[in-house]
Amino acid sequence: MKYIFDFDDVLFYNTKRLKEIMYMHLEKAGVPRNISEAYYKTVRTNQFRLKDFLRHFSVDESIYEKILEESKDFINEELIILIKKIKKENCYIVTYGDKEQQLDKIKITGVEALVSRIIITEDAYSKKETVEEICAKYKDEKVIFIDDKVQYFKDLDFKKYPNLKTILYTGQNAKKLLEEINK
Ligand SMILES: [Mg+2]
Repeated sequence: MKYIFDFDDVLFYNTKRLKEIMYMHLEKAGVPRNISEAYYKTVRTNQFRLKDFLRHFSVDESIYEKILEESKDFINEELIILIKKIKKENCYIVTYGDKEQQLDKIKITGVEALVSRIIITEDAYSKKETVEEICAKYKDEKVIFIDDKVQYFKDLDFKKYPNLKTILYTGQNAKKLLEEINK
């Protein structure tokens, strides 16, 4: 069995925690939260780049490093319990976003050491293609794809890849997730 994990809001508390400290640091630098939040709403539909976001407010560039450093504990411990039970060679991260930024976050959390491959796709469509490529490569094995956004499931070709199973991640703990995987 192969396991594909999304990163943001699955393995990593991106919205719950990273975004919060981003607003906090901006506030400290003199940007009120209502201003940064309003701007975030205008840029989030495109690929979000934290560096560009900070640059927009002309804050000190060292804030990026600070945010990154503070993010190292924002890992979803429940899922790490699960990942540690799975053989490393069966574990993948497939994440959509800016390459440099995603890699920075993945590295700082240390989760890189627990998976065999990390694939960062820079457009949303490639995420589907990457998942399907893994299904094609391991067609005799079950492939479990765990993501917090249902939009990444809708174009997947379940007819062509009957070995694929998707699980919508909504905060399940390790035990519950394991039950869903084995269902
Ligand atoms: Mg996500």
